[in-house]
Amino acid sequence: MDLVVRGRRVLTPQGWRAAEVGVRDGVIVEVADLGAGLDATETLELAEDEVLIPGLVDTHVHVNQPGRTEWEGFASATRAAAAGGVTTIVDMPLNSVPPTTDVAALDVKRAEAEGGVHVDVAFWGGAVPGSAADLAPLHDAGVMGFKCFLVDSGVEEFGHLDAAELERDLAELARLDALMVVHAEDPGVIGAAPEPHGPRYADFLASRPPAAEEAAIATLLGAAARTGARVHVLHLSDAAALPLITRARAEGVRVSVETCPHYLTLEAEDVPDGATAFKCCPPIRGAANQDALWQGLLDGAIDIVVTDHSPSTPDLKALDTGDFGEAWGGVASLQLGLAAVWTEARSRGVALEQVVRWMSTSPAALVGLDRKGAIAPGKDADLAVLAPEDSFDVDPARLHHRNPVTPYAGRRLTGVVRRTLLHGRTITDVPTGTLLRRGDA
Ligand SMILES: [Zn+2]
Repeated sequence: MDLVVRGRRVLTPQGWRAAEVGVRDGVIVEVADLGAGLDATETLELAEDEVLIPGLVDTHVHVNQPGRTEWEGFASATRAAAAGGVTTIVDMPLNSVPPTTDVAALDVKRAEAEGGVHVDVAFWGGAVPGSAADLAPLHDAGVMGFKCFLVDSGVEEFGHLDAAELERDLAELARLDALMVVHAEDPGVIGAAPEPHGPRYADFLASRPPAAEEAAIATLLGAAARTGARVHVLHLSDAAALPLITRARAEGVRVSVETCPHYLTLEAEDVPDGATAFKCCPPIRGAANQDALWQGLLDGAIDIVVTDHSPSTPDLKALDTGDFGEAWGGVASLQLGLAAVWTEARSRGVALEQVVRWMSTSPAALVGLDRKGAIAPGKDADLAVLAPEDSFDVDPARLHHRNPVTPYAGRRLTGVVRRTLLHGRTITDVPTGTLLRRGDA
């Protein structure tokens, strides 16, 4: 074997084990009891305070290259991912120019990423008005599924679908057995809410009410029920929408749900006025809502936790004026997601293996990356060495994100990623990530 990793706490699908993990050609070939003495060219012994977990799979990342590479790019995003224990990302189809709404645009993205990524990278396609004929070709070209918006996306080149277009596209995706992932806020409800303006967080919160999520999710669930398509609710913020989803699921609708680290760890009550680093859509809501999101995760109503890493340049965050109406909406946390969620989980008595399921195993399953998300024979040797009781203070200068604007600045987080391995090799400054197509891995 090329590598054996030995540790007292290795997370396997059967639970924690004192184990030796044997790797050949980038793939886990054996998991044996510690002491078995697996033989390999290279050996990695975990320290007493370290555990071995599968690398995280983050299915919601905006890389923005090409077109808005000053916001983020493949090299910087994947370096941040690696530093945070993330070994696979799935890139969102928008904020790059061109957006990934046809095969030519996907080819452009793949060419930009090729040879320059530090973790494995897969791609979402985009579903926009008038793009129905491009869905099947993009599916055949290997995207993991399709993203659409039901409300203004924030960038003009990526339009949103109305209810009729959504249903037409879902019928096509049902035929392809492809997944539609949806930004679910309702434009009518948001249009009727007060416009966001000025530095008060409460005013911003009032501009994106929970009812906007509930209305859009109801629209989506209706269309999913009629077409039989598989749908996924992106970045759920409003926990009150969960009963709608669980009811639909019980009736046979194929729906899954994600939430994000910022909704699980940050609270509206604590957002300082003018602190536009906290602006995202849908917004970070109050503490009681956050408790209900955690309950949703524990109940199984929410399937996965992924970052929605969506950076921009500091000037677009309107840091100087602190105006929530002007600021770009997006939180960048690819490097911090695991530590942020684990810190909160730990304080709530939630086990690390649950966090790993939500952030690695289940996201891999969502997009069908069958060789990711577990430490078991036959899986890719994508691994993170974590010191779960070690802590650090978030220093933006130490983030690899191109624009290290973060609402976590100064926070003490628990859980230090000491090393990340991709295909059995420690991730270094040399990019060794691969580009994944649906069905590849
Ligand atoms: Zn997003």
